[in-house]
This record gives sequence, C-alpha cells and structure tokens, in this order.
Amino acid sequence: MTAQIIDGRAIGQTHRARIATEIESMTARDLRPPGLAVVLVGTNPASEVYVRNKRKACEQVGVVSHSYDLPAGTPQTDLLALIDQLNADRTIDGILVQLPLPDHIDPETVIERISPAKDVDGFHPYNVGRLVARVPRLRPCTPWGVIQLLRHIEEPFKGRTACVIGASNIVGRPMALELLLAGATPTICHRFTPDTAAIARHSDIVVAAVGKPGLVKGDWIKPGATVIDIGINRRDDGTLTGDVEFDAAAEKAAWITPVPGGVGPMTVAMLLDNTLRARAFGTHEAA
Ligand code: NAD
Repeated sequence: MTAQIIDGRAIGQTHRARIATEIESMTARDLRPPGLAVVLVGTNPASEVYVRNKRKACEQVGVVSHSYDLPAGTPQTDLLALIDQLNADRTIDGILVQLPLPDHIDPETVIERISPAKDVDGFHPYNVGRLVARVPRLRPCTPWGVIQLLRHIEEPFKGRTACVIGASNIVGRPMALELLLAGATPTICHRFTPDTAAIARHSDIVVAAVGKPGLVKGDWIKPGATVIDIGINRRDDGTLTGDVEFDAAAEKAAWITPVPGGVGPMTVAMLLDNTLRARAFGTHEAA
C-alpha cells in the first residue's frame, strides 16, 4: 500500500481564504478587523521564523498584527505589564506570546496572565479546562489543525483507535483530548510508556508529537492507518524532517502528512481562525 498525502498547505489555504472572506465582509460593514498582538522575547532563531510567518499570515488575511519584540533580558514584571496593557486594549482580540521564553521567565505565569478571551494559543487553563469539559472555546492551534486535516479526509473518528505519541501541554495532551471529543479512542504515549510501538501497531490513527527524527518506524504502522506527523526537526543540512520514517510508514499507511507541508500550515491557519473567533466572542468590541 502506498499512502495518499494529506496536503496541509492546500487545506490550510482553504481555511485562510475563508477567514480572509469573513474579514473582508466585516470591513465592508465598517467593522474593525481582528487584531493580534504577537510578542517575542529574545532572539531564538526558530521562534523568529515562526513569528515572522505568523505576522505575514495575518497580513495576508486582513488580521491586524501588532508586533512587540522585547530584548532577551526583559524582566518578567515588564512582560506581565505589557500583557495587562494588551488585555485592556479594545483593539486587540488575540495575544500570542511566542514560546519558549528565556529561562528567567516562568511560562505558566505568563500564560495565566493572558485574558482567556484573548488566549488565541488556547494554552490558558481556562481554555484547556473547557476542552476537557467538552465545551471548547479557543482551542490549541496545532491539535485543532490536525482535527481539520482528519475531517478533510473524512476520518470517521467514532469506533477508531488512536495513538498520540508525546504528552506536552501544547501538543500531545490537547491532541488526545481533541480526538476523544471527536469520538475516537485515544491512548497517550510518552517517554515513560513501556511499549509505544505495540500501541501504535494497533491504532487506526497515529499522531507523532515528540521532536525525535525517525522515532516512529514503518513497522509501527498498521496497514491502512492514518499517520499524522507533528514533529519538526532540523537536519544537519538545514532541511526539516518529522518524527516518522516517512517512506517506510507511507508503504503501510492509507494517509500520511509530510514534513514540511503537513501540520505546520494548519497551526498558522488555526491561529488566524482563533483570532477571528476571539473577535466574535470578545466583549472588547471597539470602533
Ligand atoms: P516536548 O519536548 O514538550 O514534548 C515531547 C513529548 O514527547 C513529551 O511528552 C515526552 O514524554 C515525549 N517523548 C519523548 N521521548 C519519547 C519517546 N521515546 N517515546 C514516546 N514519547 C516520547 O515537545 P512539544 O512542544 O510537544 O513538541 C513536539 C514536536 O512537535 C517538536 O518536534 C515540535 O517542534 C513539534 N511542533 C510542531 C508544531 C507544528 O505546527 N507542526 C507545533 C508545535 C510543536
């Protein structure tokens, strides 16, 4: 079997076009377009690339991007004061603080300072709690983007087993919660799981979110399974690769995402979607 490719670039583009149309119709009615504050602390090269892409994507769909680039030595109190100011700003619908933060800043304190109504990353415990309680509002972008990819290929979810490899707060855990909410039966594997391969081999959907190139072998994949590779790893030559042995897995799977061009574009599309939704949910209506 040779898998069909799930083209995240094309599917992401469909979402962006929808968002752009919605914003156009808002501005045509003299409504303020959504505003997103993107905060970067320091000069982590990968973060700089992600932030640049997010700001460019905003521009393309008509979200107004507000940039805050702070020096690496910015005291935590200054960052929290900026968040307070953005929380109170009626022209800002979404606040994104790019992670990771420098070591002297506690990410949990920062995430919890963002108003849940403007938490377009979906990382605030309020939004995570809503997802747990099956009343999601602003949902973590990467897992929500994966659900869009699975919907696109008409994944039925109900009656299907899933294996999520990786259990971080920003990817693995919310991914399992999204799959559960969609009706699938997920198992979460992490660094202390004794036999991840055996769990993957019995799963209809395998989602890899670890950050280790080639961790998921071709023989971990059940024939006909769907394989979603969230991992982003940089090879020595500068090119990107995922967590899955792509060629071997594609021999067994029915569907597979490439890296790059799979999940990554969906993360950005869902960030824009969350910003638009935050504009609609928020009580921060402004002229
Ligand atoms: P993380 O380091 O916070 O978490 C990694 C998880 O993998 C942990 O739960 C750990 O227990 C687990 N793990 C480690 N070794 C394992 C093993 N041998 N078997 C099973 N589980 C193991 O990383 P993260 O922030 O969750 O990111 C994971 C990957 O996803 C990274 O490559 C990151 O770059 C990528 N990522 C991609 C996107 C995207 O848009 N495509 C977005 C966010 C993160």
